[in-house]
Amino acid sequence: MKVMKFGGSSLADATRYLRVTDITLDCHNSDGAAVVLSAPKGVTNALSLLCEQAANQTDYFELLEKLRMTLKGINDELDQALTGYEHAALVALIDERLAWLSRQLEGFTLLGCAPDAISAAILSIGEYVSVNFLHHILSAKGVDSTILDPVEYVLAEGDYLDSIADVALSKARFSDVDASGSQVLIMPGFVAANEQGEKVTLGRNGSDYSAAILAACIDATCCEIWTDVDGVYNADPNQVEGAVLMDKLTYQEAMELSYFGAKVLHPKTIGPIAQHHIPCLIKNTLNPAAPGTLISNEASTKWTNVKGISQLENVAMFNVAGPGMKGMVGMASRVFEVMSNASISITLITQSSSEYSISFCIHSKDAERALALLEDAFALELSNQLLDPIEVRHNLSIVTLVGDGMKRTKGLAAKFFNSISQARVNNVAIAQGSSERSISTVVEADKAKKAVRAIHQNFFSERHTIDVFLVGCGNVGKELLDQFARQQKALLEKHIQLRVYGIANSKKLLLNNEGIDLSTDWYSALAASQESFSIELLQNWVDEQCLVNPVIVDCTSSEAVASLYVDLMNAGFHVVTPNKKANTGSLTYYEALKNTALQTKRQYLYETTVGAGLPVIDNLQKLFSAGDELHRFEGILSGSLSYVFGKLEDGMSLSEATATAKENGFTEPDPRDDLSGTDVARKLLILAREAGISLELSDIDIESVLPEGFAGNDDIESFMARLHECDHAFAEKVEAAKQAGKVLRYIGKIEHGSCKVSIEAVLPDHPLAVIRDGENALAIHSDYYQPKPYVIRGYGAGGTVTAAGVFADILRTMPWKQI
Ligand code: ADP
Ligand code: ASP
Ligand code: MG
Repeated sequence: MKVMKFGGSSLADATRYLRVTDITLDCHNSDGAAVVLSAPKGVTNALSLLCEQAANQTDYFELLEKLRMTLKGINDELDQALTGYEHAALVALIDERLAWLSRQLEGFTLLGCAPDAISAAILSIGEYVSVNFLHHILSAKGVDSTILDPVEYVLAEGDYLDSIADVALSKARFSDVDASGSQVLIMPGFVAANEQGEKVTLGRNGSDYSAAILAACIDATCCEIWTDVDGVYNADPNQVEGAVLMDKLTYQEAMELSYFGAKVLHPKTIGPIAQHHIPCLIKNTLNPAAPGTLISNEASTKWTNVKGISQLENVAMFNVAGPGMKGMVGMASRVFEVMSNASISITLITQSSSEYSISFCIHSKDAERALALLEDAFALELSNQLLDPIEVRHNLSIVTLVGDGMKRTKGLAAKFFNSISQARVNNVAIAQGSSERSISTVVEADKAKKAVRAIHQNFFSERHTIDVFLVGCGNVGKELLDQFARQQKALLEKHIQLRVYGIANSKKLLLNNEGIDLSTDWYSALAASQESFSIELLQNWVDEQCLVNPVIVDCTSSEAVASLYVDLMNAGFHVVTPNKKANTGSLTYYEALKNTALQTKRQYLYETTVGAGLPVIDNLQKLFSAGDELHRFEGILSGSLSYVFGKLEDGMSLSEATATAKENGFTEPDPRDDLSGTDVARKLLILAREAGISLELSDIDIESVLPEGFAGNDDIESFMARLHECDHAFAEKVEAAKQAGKVLRYIGKIEHGSCKVSIEAVLPDHPLAVIRDGENALAIHSDYYQPKPYVIRGYGAGGTVTAAGVFADILRTMPWKQI
């Protein structure tokens, strides 16, 4: 005979009860079925809340009526679906139980408290109604079934609300039960009786345990736990995208996973089935064909070392410390005795080796009681200051990595803690079980999900995520989004999931927690958005979504956005940008950026600030790290001026050349930014600072293409309209160079620790003479590269190459990933 347990999630409505009936009948016809049922979904929660509300003397009428409607609703639907269903019998049962409940609640209100003995009986009402539903469905289908009342069979001891079964004694009581399979046996889960015959419960979620007890008591061949997921995953599939289904777990692994919070199985379940060597199968009521997860003595061959991550919520941590602890024999045992006498179970313990302190975790609901008991037990030591006041930290969670093979594998703890640091989560306390089957860390509750995701990603997922927030959707930003849209699928094939979660311009911010679909009209959605961009908003959002690898991509040329990078890195974002404003702000801010990136372990990447898509910065950084030193630099650093000066050489006027460059998207929105030389000066400053030269922008000697102050206050259009006024003087310069057999080039130089940007006439054999039409060239004379310089050359402007360079930087934010 098999035991099959159906949880509340499988019993949400009449359709689910009928589905459960089909699964039961399949088993009844093949192996014989003993069924353990939970209450219908949500019913135990409602009963628990009713007790609380009544004890607090708040009005519970509405909730009571809602509960009545839920139970009667299922009964009515079953009546409609089945012929011969005894609807009236169930109506009478529900009315009778709820009338009793109502009387007890009135008593709670009068008393102003909810005694545990009565609460236990109340909490199990749902289970009793539930088994009666199934019994009558089976009757309507002509199948015999017997309801076994656990009060008569399952003997348990401990708290009224969290008892432990005595399987041996219970087994003796089951000896008169006909387990031949001729009838379907049905037992309410979650409930048992103590020695006095009073109703007790086995703890919330305890029906799994009831099933294990029944399986052990009737020597079942298998204990099946039917729930709403396909089996045990390596992390909660409802919390972690991409969680992987386990085919097999050993009893110990399942125990550890459930003990540390995997709700799919109640931790007490494993004891009876492991002891009696009964295999346990976790199956999905909504997908019965799926093979499920088998828990037995057999280990999986697919997943050899680590098996899963679980998260235990509602944890409080106590720290008992003080000068009197040192060498005080029996201190730990006294602390734990206090807990054990009060039946408070301890989930995790750490003791510092100096013997100065003991920390341990318990369930939050017991924290207040535990503190009072400890203060009482150690009153003398506390008043003599041998102990410091006992510290309690609330709102914590325990995150645990579990697997039998962890004993044999080195480096897992390092990877575990690296993942936590990568998620920027703080370890409040850590513990490794001496079985080496688990490593746990205590973290702040609101950070736990993030930690679990990062651990999951590093241990189980081949998939890396990049969570992009784009600020600025002009030329480069738009192109970048197009490139993402084209590339997302190919990246996924390489296990990289790149999602754009947010797009912002100077006024609006568009956020989408599933990632913005770039094939849709995001531009209009952004225009219609009500949100505006702020770091706080973004940080809260990222925290809420538990994103592990958020990257801000700044495609503006705004100083205001650049001034936020330090705060953004502190808030956990990597920063990728083609915007030159941050690196050319004050030296102090530049240094703060570099230091913050180091301290926060965030990437600050700005490859495209010099030479657009050309590989400049990263190469230089590698060279300088390898001990090279810059002697001299010269280059054409402006794609726009490379274009304009090429056209001048061909005989075009300055105004015409500039207009053509602008039309072709080679210039900044305001061409004065290029013609003034400031843009080149900024690039030169970025290079100089990379080479370790401490300069400010104001230290750079700049020769502007325009006469000083020319049309400085005009808007862009009037400036373009007036530019022809400079044509004559400029044409003369071009002509003079030509006469000398030279061409004009706009060149940036670094030499002897200073920087200069100027128009130079160069001979045709000069390496920069051939650089035109938007190309850039950089000649680096260094210790390692001499007498011939290291030269980088190629298109150094335009949205496409710049966006591609930004894209490449974004991909570099992934930890441990080779593309
Ligand atoms: P039931 O009502 O059937 O007893 P529960 O809600 O108690 O169902 O348990 C099933 C839930 O357990 C799943 O929906 C899932 O969200 C959660 N869960 C937590 N950890 C895991 C895990 N490692 N594998 C599968 N499910 C898990
Ligand atoms: N109905 C009980 C609860 O919700 C027991 C269970 O479902 O396992 O806690
Ligand atoms: Mg459950």
